[in-house]
Amino acid sequence: MSKHYDLICIGGGSGGMATARRAASYGARCAVIEAKKLGGTCVNVGCVPKKVMWNAAHTAHSLHRAQDYGFAVGEVGFDWVELKRRRDAYVERLNGIYAHNLDKANIDFIEGFGRFVDERTVEVDGTRYSADHIVIATGGQPWRPSIPGAELGIDSDGFFELEALPGKVAVLGAGYIAVELAGVLHELGSETCLVIRGQEPLRSFDSLIREGLMEAFHAEQLPVVTGFEASKLERAADGTISIYGKDGRCLEGYDTVVWAVGRRSCTGSLGLERIGLEVRHNGDIPVDRYQQTSVSGVYALGDIIGRYPLTPVAIAAGRRLADRVFGGREGRHLEYRCVPTVVFTHPPIGTVGLTEEEARAEFGDDVTIFTNRFIAMDYALSKSKRRSLMKLVTVGKEQRVVGAHMISPGADEMLQGFAVAVRMGATKADFDDTIAIHPTSAEEMVTMV
Ligand code: FAD
Ligand code: NDP
Repeated sequence: MSKHYDLICIGGGSGGMATARRAASYGARCAVIEAKKLGGTCVNVGCVPKKVMWNAAHTAHSLHRAQDYGFAVGEVGFDWVELKRRRDAYVERLNGIYAHNLDKANIDFIEGFGRFVDERTVEVDGTRYSADHIVIATGGQPWRPSIPGAELGIDSDGFFELEALPGKVAVLGAGYIAVELAGVLHELGSETCLVIRGQEPLRSFDSLIREGLMEAFHAEQLPVVTGFEASKLERAADGTISIYGKDGRCLEGYDTVVWAVGRRSCTGSLGLERIGLEVRHNGDIPVDRYQQTSVSGVYALGDIIGRYPLTPVAIAAGRRLADRVFGGREGRHLEYRCVPTVVFTHPPIGTVGLTEEEARAEFGDDVTIFTNRFIAMDYALSKSKRRSLMKLVTVGKEQRVVGAHMISPGADEMLQGFAVAVRMGATKADFDDTIAIHPTSAEEMVTMV
């Protein structure tokens, strides 16, 4: 016998959970179907365990500089196994909290893999469930190219399973995950190198950010191999992994290789062909501004739509959808613009709005740029200094700020407030009229000339 709901969310990650909980708050009868662990990518193999590792790496960085402040810190021990045990326990606690939240909201949790039977029915392990509205929030998974030996590498999921700190590691890729994992491994003591096929990582970021990140890698002595695209991975006689490039170069001697070359949407086995739902060739699901797919009453949100694959974006899209469908808030939808984002490198990167390159393409000579390069006070007593870089991208005579970019200690916590200002249409004069907070790095954002 099948059970009927107002809403079924396929996927118990950031997007699915947020949609169901908001819908339930309006009295909708909801179910969440999850094949693996509640919380999805973010909680289990993404933001949360990553941030724990970044915090650990940040602590290591501070310990290295402790002597600048007069501390006699000798050899400091580091226990990867203990860190992993504590991190895993934290994630497990969160899984429990997510299950409890569903329970509290009277949302049914259906464990298993969901597949469409028809436009209103999903099957899980032979049982059918129907709903007036169905949300696909099945997220993405790591991708790697089909080259010989690709399986010798691990991906970001594998990174979180590592039982020991790698000795010598190559991270292949140039996006968020590549630069974040390379930074963590390097700070924690692995002999790390980042291998990219272009000339700089984070290609779609503002040029100042790319300049700052390459400078930081150089200062931290984290080597970046550029213009290298892997064609083959091979296990050498001594057990290490060799990486062959398309141009004939060979990088040798790695005990760990991490693939971080992108992710692909999980749409493959959902039975979407049965309901004739349109899917792009890369697996992403196209939607309109209301998260509506090509099939009426079936919505998609989060990573699966291929736009801003970030946790808060998935959550915001889901809550707005539930507000509209179940909360009577007609027309409510997510504007996919001015999305602030932080890359947890060392130092971290914060960015919101248009890059200089995007602004110039859209507004031409109407663009005025303000930049600041300075040594953060964090390094005042250090022999080896690190530069912070910041940029404001403004448009028009009134110099409306359409983009803010920073790579600096504290950028991760600094950006959120500036994102509010940019979203509200603040001008450079508004920034200038704001009293600085001294002595901070943030004050450099309101004192640019
Ligand atoms: P997911 O969270 O991936 O959830 C989808 C769920 O659906 C999964 O649990 C999956 O098991 C389940 N599922 C799939 N198919 C089915 C099926 N047929 N039936 C039932 N269940 C199914 N974002 C940030 O904002 N900040 C960060 O710092 C950050 N760091 C990240 C670090 C890493 C290493 C990674 C990989 C990602 C990171 N992200 C970060 C991105 C963030 O994790 C995703 O944007 C977010 O999790 C997307 O949410 P979602 O609901 O779309 O999908
Ligand atoms: P990204 O899309 O950020 O980066 C993947 C990069 O890999 C591409 O930009 C490309 O760079 C490179 N690449 C692609 N194919 C190949 C190939 N065959 N060989 C070598 N390099 C290749 O993907 P990620 O997987 O890093 O992250 C996915 C998303 O998850 C991010 O976009 C982000 O939204 C989210 N995320 C967010 C985080 C945060 O908020 N802090 C942290 C981690 C992830 P190029 O073309 O320049 O070579």
